[in-house]
Amino acid sequence: MDFDEAVETKRCYKCGEVKPRSEFYKDRSRSDGLDPRCKSCTKAHKAAWRKANPEKHREYGRKWRKANPEKHRERFRKWAKANPEKHRERKRKWRKANPEKAAAQKRRHNRKRSMERSSRVREIVPEILRLEGDHVALEQLAHTLAKRKDFRNLCWMSADIEDLAVRYYYKEEEL
Ligand SMILES: [Zn+2]
Repeated sequence: MDFDEAVETKRCYKCGEVKPRSEFYKDRSRSDGLDPRCKSCTKAHKAAWRKANPEKHREYGRKWRKANPEKHRERFRKWAKANPEKHRERKRKWRKANPEKAAAQKRRHNRKRSMERSSRVREIVPEILRLEGDHVALEQLAHTLAKRKDFRNLCWMSADIEDLAVRYYYKEEEL
């Protein structure tokens, strides 16, 4: 028999509705290659199962994440981007439930940031010292620094930079 797959329909054994093939998940073990339940019935069935078996559902989730760390990270990134509010709320709850882990995470984060900052300062201070006395070059450097996002952090880290900023950048702003 020759048939057009696109228009072929099938009756869902659960809800009894006749729906197009695209409304059924594939199942190679079946003679027609389709799941006997339509997609919406399958989804409802799965949701009911999850509700009735929350522990098993969590356990499956844990196993899947462990077996597919890359996919999980990717899915999580997408979810977090689409649900910033929920993501914040989840982080807040996690911090409350895991205060020690959260403190360690914060320490790691702060250490990383302060290392980044001090390496930027190390990069710039010698430049200032080298240019000491060359007012034109110092002014140019101050302008470049002022445009940088991390400028305030740099000022906070180094008196030399703050001094430079006051002398050449803020002074000019006031004038
Ligand atoms: Zn159905």
